[in-house]
Amino acid sequence: MKKDDCERLSVAQARNANAVGKKVLLKGWVRTRRDSKGGFSFVELNDGSSMGNIQIIAPNTLSNYESVITKLNTGCSIWATGTIKESPGQGQATEMEAEEIGLYGDAPSTYPLQKKQHSLEFLRSIAHLRPRTNTFGAVERIRNRVSFSIHQYFQELGFYYVHTPLITASDCEGAGQMFRVSTLDPDNPPRTEEGKIDYTQDFFGKPSYLTVSGQLEGETYACGLGKIYTFGPTFRAENSNTTRHLAEFWMIEPEAAFYELEDNMVLAEGLLKRIFADVLKYCPEDMAFFNKMMDKTIIETLQHIIESDFVRLTYTEAIDILIASKQKFEYKVEWGVDLQSEHERYLTEEHFKKPVILYNYPRTIKPFYMKVNDDGKTVRAMDVLVPKIGEIIGGSEREWDLSILEQRMDEQKMDKTHYWWYEDLRRFGSVPHSGFGLGFERVILFITGIANIRDVIPFPRTPGLCEF
Ligand code: ATP
Ligand code: MN
Repeated sequence: MKKDDCERLSVAQARNANAVGKKVLLKGWVRTRRDSKGGFSFVELNDGSSMGNIQIIAPNTLSNYESVITKLNTGCSIWATGTIKESPGQGQATEMEAEEIGLYGDAPSTYPLQKKQHSLEFLRSIAHLRPRTNTFGAVERIRNRVSFSIHQYFQELGFYYVHTPLITASDCEGAGQMFRVSTLDPDNPPRTEEGKIDYTQDFFGKPSYLTVSGQLEGETYACGLGKIYTFGPTFRAENSNTTRHLAEFWMIEPEAAFYELEDNMVLAEGLLKRIFADVLKYCPEDMAFFNKMMDKTIIETLQHIIESDFVRLTYTEAIDILIASKQKFEYKVEWGVDLQSEHERYLTEEHFKKPVILYNYPRTIKPFYMKVNDDGKTVRAMDVLVPKIGEIIGGSEREWDLSILEQRMDEQKMDKTHYWWYEDLRRFGSVPHSGFGLGFERVILFITGIANIRDVIPFPRTPGLCEF
């Protein structure tokens, strides 16, 4: 039977017991090869369709046994035809008895991913090859599954997927430092009479930036279509070299008309639980790998989270708990301060040992668009905190009263003229509405137990790093 007449299976399909007896074609990359005394070569093949490899048994009767098969190196790409058999070996249901094997691309011994454990730091320096490792294969399959589950969750609830712009002229809400977008010649920019850079001559006729959030535009669609979400890249030029911040990351931002803070909390809790349940259900092999290699408690933690309610706690109650804890925090705790990661982690990791939704924050530390409570001192903000990460979601009910919104913009010394269209939502048919932002990579960090956010996105962008 010729190669092209055989049914092509992925390695994942060929590893399934129901493939036994079929004559198939496999294609992939050689992970390892060893020769046995009995006149066989054993090739471990992987094609990214699953964590596990399939073992291909090549007998020395194959015509190219000496010339090709015994020279197959780690990293080379091949095709193989043969019959799938039940495997007598441990930990694998099937194996392939090869009839023919052909080489696509050889990989000399300079291939950096020889069979041994490589550090995540080293793999970061070869981000173009790391998709061929167990860890990054698994990370990508989890990212893919979580993306799909997020779309399913919102679609099933009747939310529309809206595409908000990546280039914006509203410098948003001070959510973070912005990257400027410009076509002016940096060596010789046009100047105004006062000697300042003349942005009226720039591409958009005014200063423009990469977006830090699609929220404001998202609100315009919620106030028309009812329930929407965005899921796209977001950019922050924050020079915070932490293990939880990227300069380019993906964010999911639902926004819903007629949702109050309580509805927003239910939506956020439901989303996280759906994601966690789905990865356990659909990615068991990858999850078992992370549970073994990264953190032996993740599967148990995710299961526990799915089964229990999140804690709901006001900011004021949280401050009381933190003060009563007598912990030595680096940043002092008192009513009115913004909580630091160490405080958030104490609450969710030590005190409650489960996810916490903190709400009703002081108005002075939160952006202008959050709805002011009747007490006048707090706003209807909510942050969802999880162990080891701290903040994973930030959201709020939005201020829908125009006069209060304007007062808040004045308070924060903002230029109201930039927000005329945002104010129009409050001028015409204003409604209560709410939304939040979920950092996609923070979710993947949490699920995989990986410590550094640079290792859960294909090509990390951080201060000083824009390779690949
Ligand atoms: P943090 O205090 O951790 O910097 P933030 O308050 O700036 O977060 P928001 O502006 O509320 O975050 O953004 C919404 C969500 O986006 C956050 O809850 C977080 O999950 C994620 N996020 C924010 N900044 C980053 C970043 N630089 N890299 C990756 N994810 C981020
Ligand atoms: Mn931030």
